[in-house]
Amino acid sequence: MLSFSFLGRCVIMKTLRYSGNLFGISCVKGDDAMKPNKLALLAVGSVVVLGGLLPIWQAVRTQSTGYAKPTLIIDAGHGGFDGGAESASGLIEKDLNLLIAQNLQDFCTLCGVETIMVRESDTDVGDPSLSSSARKQDDIYSRLDLFEETEDAWVLSIHQNEYPDASVFGAQMFYGVQNPQSEHFAAVLQERFWALDPENDRQIKPGPESVYLLQHTTKPMVLAECGFLSNPEEAEKLASFDYQQKVAFTLLCGVCDAWKMEENQDFEE
Ligand SMILES: [Zn+2]
Repeated sequence: MLSFSFLGRCVIMKTLRYSGNLFGISCVKGDDAMKPNKLALLAVGSVVVLGGLLPIWQAVRTQSTGYAKPTLIIDAGHGGFDGGAESASGLIEKDLNLLIAQNLQDFCTLCGVETIMVRESDTDVGDPSLSSSARKQDDIYSRLDLFEETEDAWVLSIHQNEYPDASVFGAQMFYGVQNPQSEHFAAVLQERFWALDPENDRQIKPGPESVYLLQHTTKPMVLAECGFLSNPEEAEKLASFDYQQKVAFTLLCGVCDAWKMEENQDFEE
């Protein structure tokens, strides 16, 4: 059961920040939201929370169909000595990955989605006694072990992209090549990100050979590149708390879409 403090944090600190339209169809349009007074927000936000989370919660409940709800492993990419990409303004990928992961975990908890966080602070998960290169390798192996050891796990790995051409932008989903569910998972997540940014026309891709986890996990897995830190406009958006929450909520919606399709057996193999 959710504690009052948790509900208070989620409902007031998080949901109201979206303004009233978060949980509707237009949940991802918020940058230009009007700023009504706090009382109005409280009233609207509370109604929207209850009304908007209900279909999501229903999407992940299992009582009616017997569909076994998976566990979502939230993998905040990089961490500790491994910072990942960095924006010109100094935004470091590992920090952003963790912030989005934490928001996603909060939303999942509110919706009754069981989660496992690969990391919950600024640390890697490799053996600290090893040299940096061996530790990086051990970090990847440790993540893979967690994926494989967790029964009925789905994996969502959160990353930020970079590219020499600073004009390149847009979230893009890469999927694991071992499990056929991964491609469907990526497709529904990518659709959600298109809704978040209608100018984004990036397409899903299988995990490249250089990405060990996407090549080797047997679990349904998507690596979500949530945006390009090399694009100044996108980096600025990603630095904002509001946009981090929108990205986290977009990820939750994609997860629920995927599980709902699994439950209804809508995926064609
Ligand atoms: Zn990364």
